[in-house]
Parts: sequence; structure tokens; C-alpha cells
Amino acid sequence: MNKKQIHMRNRILIALLCFAFAFVISEFMPLEAWLGSKSAALWVEFALFLIPYLIGGYDVVLKAIKNIGHGQLFDENFLMTVATVGAFALVLFPDSDPHMAEGAAVMLFYQVGELFQSYAVGKSRKSIAEMMDIAPDYANVERDGKLIQVDPYEIAVGDNIVIKAGERVPLDGIVVSGTSELDTKALTGESVPRSIAPGQDIISGCVNLSGKLVVQVTKPFGESTVSRILELVENAADKKAKTENFITRFAKYYTPIVVGIAVLLAILPPLLFGLSWSEWIQRGLVFLVVSCPCALVISVPLSFFGGIGGASRDGILIKGSNYLEVLANTQAVAFDKTGTLTDGSFEVVAVHAQDGYNADELLELAAHAESFSDHPIALSIKRAYSGELDPKRILDPQELSGRGVKATLDSNVVLVGNDKLMNECSIDYMSCELAGTILHVSYNNEYLGHIVIADVIKPIAPVAIAELHEMGIHNTVMLTGDREDVAKAVATEVGVDDYKAQLLPQDKVACVEQLLTQTSEHTHGKGKLAFVGDGINDAPVLARSDIGIAMGAMGSDAAIEAADVVLMDDDPTGVARAIRIARKTMRIVWQNIVFALGVKFAVLILAALGIANMWLAVFADVGVAILAILNAMRAMKVPARDQVSAADVEE
Ligand code: ADP
Ligand code: MG
Repeated sequence: MNKKQIHMRNRILIALLCFAFAFVISEFMPLEAWLGSKSAALWVEFALFLIPYLIGGYDVVLKAIKNIGHGQLFDENFLMTVATVGAFALVLFPDSDPHMAEGAAVMLFYQVGELFQSYAVGKSRKSIAEMMDIAPDYANVERDGKLIQVDPYEIAVGDNIVIKAGERVPLDGIVVSGTSELDTKALTGESVPRSIAPGQDIISGCVNLSGKLVVQVTKPFGESTVSRILELVENAADKKAKTENFITRFAKYYTPIVVGIAVLLAILPPLLFGLSWSEWIQRGLVFLVVSCPCALVISVPLSFFGGIGGASRDGILIKGSNYLEVLANTQAVAFDKTGTLTDGSFEVVAVHAQDGYNADELLELAAHAESFSDHPIALSIKRAYSGELDPKRILDPQELSGRGVKATLDSNVVLVGNDKLMNECSIDYMSCELAGTILHVSYNNEYLGHIVIADVIKPIAPVAIAELHEMGIHNTVMLTGDREDVAKAVATEVGVDDYKAQLLPQDKVACVEQLLTQTSEHTHGKGKLAFVGDGINDAPVLARSDIGIAMGAMGSDAAIEAADVVLMDDDPTGVARAIRIARKTMRIVWQNIVFALGVKFAVLILAALGIANMWLAVFADVGVAILAILNAMRAMKVPARDQVSAADVEE
């Protein structure tokens, strides 16, 4: 609890004590006999209950008055104030029982509910902050032989920083010296430590578990993984789900309507049929108390908030509650092949050079032409090339997405890419019998031969697809720019329902559009299509699908930007996990809506019939709010990754 909440709690406790005192006196003491008159006794009771009322609820009354000044008439402060002031005002009707006790109690319980609410919201905020407690406070740099701590903002790209065992990595960089184990749990939800050695990339937000590391910083703090993730989570609350907007709009109309009904209920029957004023005013007041929509207004956003928070603890960043809603309705999933279902680390299987050239020359040309590309293919070619890369030899490198690369090397044009690229540039090429991805190499329009590379599927990929099928996702499709035979082999191995090969990025967009229509038709407009990619070459597709899921955000910036949902690691089972969390969240949201409205309407009817009294009303209101909040907080609970089984989450 924070200071404000503790203050509030103490206030409520004092008010409750005063209330108990007033209650004992008014119930058990012969006030009337002591004071000699019934009305004197009544006014003493009035004063006795007014004290706890004011201690507990003065701020509500003040807020209500202030809001009226601002023209915001119908909020819960207003409802509570009118209802409780009304209860006290019944003292003016000599023929009715006094209702000061109820008036004070309603206000106190309402405040208990508010306190609970603010505690729950604070707690889920805090747990998001904790889960995302990845923001480093300092970075160690060496100055004059001594290690000093400086603000990570002050570190420039190229500086060396030192990370001691137990410290959080403050900035993204590359390890210069030292080996260690990294705890990436805060980022990926993955609890197995990763080992790290010189030459490898290191990402801010991980915790260095064992050895001392010296790291050369590659990104300023503002662009580091940590900053981007925090920004993303902070902005998530602004993107409201349809359900959430609906509730806000609902409350806007609902409250004035209910107030209107309450007023009619209080004045029409006495006016038209000469019934008892005090009786019907009371019913109107009870009606007002029950009508307060706070259970909904607070629990629905809280559920979404909890879902986003729980997911982030599992290494899944969801950029807004609207995406949770779409995820929950996902009925078809399209996957990119390279880097998503496959490892993306190609091995060179064979190099077939034309007569007069040798394999090393071919690799040298290809590696140079690819030197500026981050495509998994490019990375593997560079890895396979044993010589030194000399970037100064290259001019004007171009990525031709879905086809290959083009560059000028020592003023000669080098092309590296697939059949499509060769056809486009009218270069005769040899086809290859080997299974694998074929990279043709040409030099000044002369065909030099091809390099055959092969990728392996991620061992977890078939599991990821099977999980989706198990969850009732009716269509899984793999889209790839690679050759038909490679695509077919991978598709069979991972078990997707369908695949499309030889696609250029724009073809992928067309494919996704077709899938969108198909999915929508198949599910009568309800089902959504997710696209899962690595953010390389597929940003347009990520954007075009109903929901774009990027994976492996620990490496690629493009992924974080382009996607709606970001899986922090390279594990494709994250898709199923994300959908499960989304479904669970939506279930909780709807449980809360149905439960809160159901109880409200029941008590409203009872109130109109004169069966429900003020006590029932206040319990219905505060009770429903508290139960809904507790339910909402379930959304935050995501089982630890290692113990997750479908049964756990599906309940
Ligand atoms: P995927 O759809 O499997 O993710 P891409 O759309 O990224 O693959 O690429 C499709 C095809 O385009 C690759 O199989 C390859 O033939 C060619 N290609 C793409 N980028 C490169 C590159 N940097 N170098 C050579 N070939 C490339
Ligand atoms: Mg790709």
C-alpha cells in the first residue's frame, strides 16, 4: 500500500469506529428517555451518524459537487452523494423510519470498495512494473583505472561498459571480453540461462549471472531493447479494446438513464396514486445505490491490463487491449518460413561453380555482395566465407526482397539470388537437383554458378503447429519466398495445413488478403487471421493481417516496430501461448460483464419492487465490484513457462 492508501485505510477505520459507536447508542441506549423527546433523540442520532459519514466520505461529496461545476453530472460520486444525502434527508419525513445508519454505511462501504480498487490497480501496475523491472539504474564505466557508475543515458555508442555478476545489462552491445551466463527471464519468460561469450550480441534487460563482462555499446540508451520495451508496455493501455470502449460508452448512457428512472420511481407513484412519499423516495435511493456501474468500469480495463501484464511476464508483448481481443478470435495463422518455422541459420551444402571458376571465388563474391544485408541467408553466407570481408570494395548494395541482392564490387555488378532474380535480369542459369535453397551468382551478367544452402526447422515448430490445431485453429499456412520443393519439405515436416512457395513480398500480401477473406467467410466474419514472421522482409504482411506477430525481438528492431504482438524469443509456441492468454482474458472480461450486469439488474428490480433495502443495495454494489476485481486479477496470472500445459490455462 502506498501512503495515500494507508491514509485512506486509517480514515475508513476511524469512521467505522465512530459508526459502531453511533450504532450501539442508537440501537441499545434509551436515548428517548434520556432526552425526553422523540425528535431530540432522532436529531442526536442524526448527528452521531453524520460524523462517520463525513469522516469517511467527505471527499466523495466534494468531488460530486466539483464535478457538477464541471458539468460532469452523472459519475459514481454523484450517485453515492445523492443516495446517501437522500438517506439522511429521510429524517425530514416524520412518518418514516430513519435511515441515517444506512446512509453512513453505504458511504463507508463504497469507500472500502474504492480503497480495494485502488489497491488492485496499484498492484497490477506494480506487477507489470516488476515484470518489466528491466530498466537499469546505472552502467559501469572505467575512468582512470577505476570503475564508476554513470547514468545509462550518458553512455555513447562505441563506449565500453563493465557488467559485473548479478548486475542487469544496461545497454545493448557486443561482448568484448569475458564469458558468463545470462538470465533472460524478464525479457523472454524463458528460465534457462543462456551462455554468452566474446563476439556475441548482448541485450539490455538480461541479468549477468556469473562472470564479469566487458561490453562495447552498440545502441544509445533511448534505442536499446529495454527502452523500446518499456515504451511499448506503457503505450499499451492507450489502445483500447472494443469491449472496453463499449463499457465506457455504456456507462455514459446507463447512469443518466438510471438516475432518471430513480427520480420517476421516487415521485410518480406518490404523485399519481397518493402513495407514501418516504417509501418511494427510499426505493428511488436504493435504486441509485445499486445502479453505480463501477464494477464494470473498473474491472474490464483491469482485466485487459492484467492480460497484457501476464503475457509480458511470459515474454509476450501485446501492444494494446484491442489486440488481445483480436488474438482471442484468431482462427487462422499464417507463418513465414525462414527464421520463424526454420532456424534461419543456413548451412552451405554445396557450391557448384561453372567451368573456369572455383568455389572459393563464388563464396567470396557472394559474401561481399551480401555484406550489408541482415537477411538470415546473408548472415549464413558471411559465416561460411572463411576470408576477410572488405566492405570498401562494395558500392551501392541493394536488397531485392524475395529475390536476392545486387551490388557493385570493384565496379562490376554482382547478383546473388534465386531463379526469379536471374530471370528478371535475363541471365541463363543452371538448375540444381539438390534439395535446398539455391543462390545463383552472376558477375557482370555472366553466370558463375550457384551455392546450395539448407536450413533446418526448429525442433519446436511441429509442436507449435500441433498446439494451434489442438486449440481449434482451423487453418495454418506457411508462406515463403523459397523454392517449391524446399517449401513442401518444411511444410510436411512441421505439419501446417497448407503452404505457398516462391512468393515475393507483394505476393505474400496478396496471399494474406486472400486468407483474410477466406477466414472471414469460413467463420461468418468472426474469425481473425494472424501472421507470424520475423520482421525481416515481411513488415507489409505483418501490417496487413488482422494481427501481426513478430518473433525474435531480441534481435530485430523491425519486428518490434511492425508487429502488434511481439514474442521476445524465437519460440513459435509463443503464438499458442499468446492466444491462450487472450482467450482467458476475454473470458474473464465477459464473466465480469455478465455477472456485474446480472446482479445489478436483479437488485434494481428488487429495489423497484421495494424488496431490496439500502443494505442489500450496498452489498450488491461493493460486493460485485470486489468480486469482479478479484476475477480481473486472475488475468494477470500466467503459469510459469515450464509448467504450462494446455489444461492449466484452459481451465
Ligand atoms: P521467406 O519467405 O522464407 O522468409 P524471403 O521472402 O525472405 O524468405 O526470401 C525468399 C527468397 O528470396 C529466398 O529463399 C532467397 O531465394 C531469396 N533471397 C531473399 N533475400 C536474399 C538474400 N539476402 N540473398 C540471397 N537470396 C535472397
Ligand atoms: Mg522471411
